[in-house]
Amino acid sequence: MARLITFTGAGLSAESGIPTFRDRDGMWENYDVQKIAFFPAWKQNYDLVHRFYNERRVQMKSVEPNPAHHMLAEWSKKYHTINYTQNIDDLLVRAGCENVVRLHGDIYSMRCVACGHVFPKYDEWNETDRCPNCDSRKGVKPGVIFFGENAPEYPGFWKTIGRLQEDDVVVVIGTSAEVIPIHLYTQESPAYSICINPKKEYEDSYDIHITKKATKGVVKADKLIAELIEGTLWKWTTNKLTKAFSNLRKQG
Ligand code: NAD
Ligand code: ZN
Repeated sequence: MARLITFTGAGLSAESGIPTFRDRDGMWENYDVQKIAFFPAWKQNYDLVHRFYNERRVQMKSVEPNPAHHMLAEWSKKYHTINYTQNIDDLLVRAGCENVVRLHGDIYSMRCVACGHVFPKYDEWNETDRCPNCDSRKGVKPGVIFFGENAPEYPGFWKTIGRLQEDDVVVVIGTSAEVIPIHLYTQESPAYSICINPKKEYEDSYDIHITKKATKGVVKADKLIAELIEGTLWKWTTNKLTKAFSNLRKQG
């Protein structure tokens, strides 16, 4: 079955006002990643870790989904989609996007490593807070996946990415590809791939690189997908494939 697979990073939420990771003026520049997002050392840096994610949680409350999140939500209703995101914010879900897979967890959850319990947290983790299941305090970390931590959604993701078909469409938005080198897979796969990033990084690894910010880029991507389905995308679509791409559409 033809599918539209989106793979998004911090650049998708940049125009909502959430700074990216590695860009200059990125918020993480002032923090040592080894201290705030490194699983083997998080307990040693317990207070700093919680202070950092408390700030992020509060900051994210005041931001809204942008037109790019809304476009992905629209696609998820029209087409068969899987929306893989590295983002820990909830803007795709808030925009109404269906079938979102959050590869790196979620800022609004906590995980107790002492008992495995995962529970929601929408405000600050403060001194009196404890795991509601086992009462541990020191065992509770933010529900964001740290470097070196098991990422439960990875096996399913790699399975999908490793088996892309020629009637699949992949749209990659706003990632430096440093954590997950998605460009190596789009480069090898027969799927039609679109990258949206104002920086021209790995542009040869995609069928088309749209050098625009996410909110403008998705408008162009939306046209390209429609053209693939209609069979009017110059040089790309054959009759056989046009038929297959039309299966991207959900019935009814
Ligand atoms: P990254 O910061 O490494 O890369 C961001 C990319 O987005 C860059 O290539 C940049 O050129 C591009 N970009 C910047 N502004 C853009 C815009 N308006 N439109 C489109 N692209 C734009 O981000 P990453 O690759 O996602 O890796 C960062 C890691 O940090 C992830 O694992 C993620 O969990 C975490 N993170 C998440 C958030 C969030 O949830 N919003 C924010 C920062 C970091
Ligand atoms: Zn517990």
